[in-house]
Amino acid sequence: MADITIGLHGGAGALPRDQLSEAEWAQARADMKAALLAGWKILRAGGTALDAVEACVIVLEDSPHFNAGHGAALNADGEHELDAAIMDGATFRAGALAGVRRIRNPISAARRLLEQDDTVLLGGAAGDAFAAGEGLAMVDPAYFTTERRVKALASLKARALAGTVAQASEGEKHGTVGAVARDSRGNLAAATSTGGFNNKPVGRIGDSPIIGAGTYAENGIAAVSGTGRGEVFIRRVAAHEVAARIRLGGAEIGKAAHGVIHDVLSPHGIGAGMIALGAAGDPVAPYNTLGMHRGWITTAGAIFAGSHEDMVAMGLAP
Ligand code: ASP
Repeated sequence: MADITIGLHGGAGALPRDQLSEAEWAQARADMKAALLAGWKILRAGGTALDAVEACVIVLEDSPHFNAGHGAALNADGEHELDAAIMDGATFRAGALAGVRRIRNPISAARRLLEQDDTVLLGGAAGDAFAAGEGLAMVDPAYFTTERRVKALASLKARALAGTVAQASEGEKHGTVGAVARDSRGNLAAATSTGGFNNKPVGRIGDSPIIGAGTYAENGIAAVSGTGRGEVFIRRVAAHEVAARIRLGGAEIGKAAHGVIHDVLSPHGIGAGMIALGAAGDPVAPYNTLGMHRGWITTAGAIFAGSHEDMVAMGLAP
């Protein structure tokens, strides 16, 4: 029997600590705890890592505090185009959607695609049509919009005019959610869902739905979900790079993940982070920004969640 564990990130674009009230930070942590417990319940009952990461990401997509599903970023036209992917480390099966607009929980549509074991990545209207055909909940795009993202778009547009986008905080620019888990049979899975970058070009697709870039899982090696400037994650095949360092280079997970964030991605001058899990042990969550929403339940059942340097102990999982 393998040690079960689950970890998540809620984006490397955490706002500076003083930009939200303690009550708002606490709410984000509570939502991360709820997301972790949704996955943990499945793992505890002997369920699969794949089911656990999907359940975990659904809770984060439904929370307004993270850039995925409800609360997703807006593109340059003020519209939502959502990306998501899920991968099963046991079978190498994967499902992903890019630029979808009406699926309440894009991660569930990605899961349905994975189950079909044929097409891996569906784009735009075809993705929406697939989800509708599968009977998944469809929503008016306005469902995804929150006041914070409308403000972030306005501020980034003003910065674009003033030529000061580079000075925008990571929180203003982006975010994503993701989860990794290991089940009692030792299977690994990863899932990622995002609204992408605020003010992104219409039709732009990030790394989250690109297998190997923002999302990757391989049994016995690693499960990885990334967050940060997707273009660089794609160019450096970042999630798979973590796995390659372990499989080919014999690195342990903490060193592999840290190396990819700090030695591979940081030199490109981007904000980046990830949640990653190996064949044994607890999840690791390196990042190079001011903060990254993240949380995990250790193999001993201890729940932790946080956004900046300190992690808050949130009790024991049942
Ligand atoms: N990786 C996401 C993207 O490029 C954004 C993020 O994680 O902040 O779409």
